[in-house]
Amino acid sequence: MTAKKKTLRCPTCSTLVTAKDADFPFCSDRCRKIDLGKWASGAYKISSPVVDPEVLEGLSEQARSNRSNDDE
Ligand SMILES: [Zn+2]
Repeated sequence: MTAKKKTLRCPTCSTLVTAKDADFPFCSDRCRKIDLGKWASGAYKISSPVVDPEVLEGLSEQARSNRSNDDE
């Protein structure tokens, strides 16, 4: 119980991977490429802590009310 292995899950297929894995943090080169493809197509909205759907909604709401209520 001494070896603290750093384990993560492959972002693509959720397979457990270790930091010594050649394709870490992916389980394979294939998954790495799939992941890159996801980034390129903008499929990764959830993984970013900055982009919260509610925040985005609030921002667009604000923009809308700013446009119609200029004198407030
Ligand atoms: Zn994988």
